[in-house]
Amino acid sequence: MVPTADHFDVVVIGGGPGGYATALYGASAGLNIAMIEKGRLGGTCLNVGCIPAKELLETAATFLHVNEASEYGINAGEASIDWSASLGRKDKIVDQLITGLGALLKSRKVTVLDGHGRLHEGKRVTVSGGSSGDIELTGDAIVLAPGSVPRTNPAREDPAGPRRRSLPFPPARRPGPTVGQESPATIPKTSAVAEVTRRRACAGT
Ligand SMILES: Cc1cc2nc3c(=O)[nH]c(=O)nc-3n(C[C@H](O)[C@H](O)[C@H](O)COP(=O)(O)OP(=O)(O)OC[C@H]3O[C@@H](n4cnc5c(N)ncnc54)[C@H](O)[C@@H]3O)c2cc1C
Repeated sequence: MVPTADHFDVVVIGGGPGGYATALYGASAGLNIAMIEKGRLGGTCLNVGCIPAKELLETAATFLHVNEASEYGINAGEASIDWSASLGRKDKIVDQLITGLGALLKSRKVTVLDGHGRLHEGKRVTVSGGSSGDIELTGDAIVLAPGSVPRTNPAREDPAGPRRRSLPFPPARRPGPTVGQESPATIPKTSAVAEVTRRRACAGT
């Protein structure tokens, strides 16, 4: 690790919506910001989440519109989907947005570093494994914006190891205060939802 004298008002770890919004707001307020991203700028949302999902939804909507066009007196024939064209369009949109985001960060003078950020005591942050090289920064404030990863419910994990127990599906019904012993057919919709939420938990974004 090569120590540097780089000190910033704020060091942000993670370049997704949480991280880049923090960096942009901070820079607008006149702060000197460093933002570290180990993958592509934009995080889940731009690369694999919100934006790609909307493109695929648009593909599906267009497909339906064309297939139902005859109802509106438009003869467009039977629609079919060319996935490589659809995914190519998605990639183009994602690339444009990431390029735009990079330009915006640059114009606000945010120092964007490519690599894995790690927080140490004394508000020191090391960056390693990316094209920015192995460097060390310090910040008056450190913002952790690394996003989240899905995980399973620990209560359902096999204590013997990572091999997952095979669980009955659907899980055996237990009588609960909300639905008692009613059969699913007689459970009002709201109660069914209440029972599902009683048995499952979702945390994070
Ligand atoms: C299919 C799908 C569709 C979605 N649609 C929507 C939608 O329509 N509207 C909406 O509001 N939300 C949507 N979301 C949710 C949205 O994507 C997330 O809420 C958002 O991306 C969270 O932003 P974030 O910055 O917290 O985390 P992320 O976007 O996950 O960004 C975290 C970033 O930090 C980086 N990172 C992590 N650790 C380190 C480290 N140690 N060093 C350096 N970098 C690190 C990661 O590489 C990543 O780029 C969707 C999500 C999915 C999966």
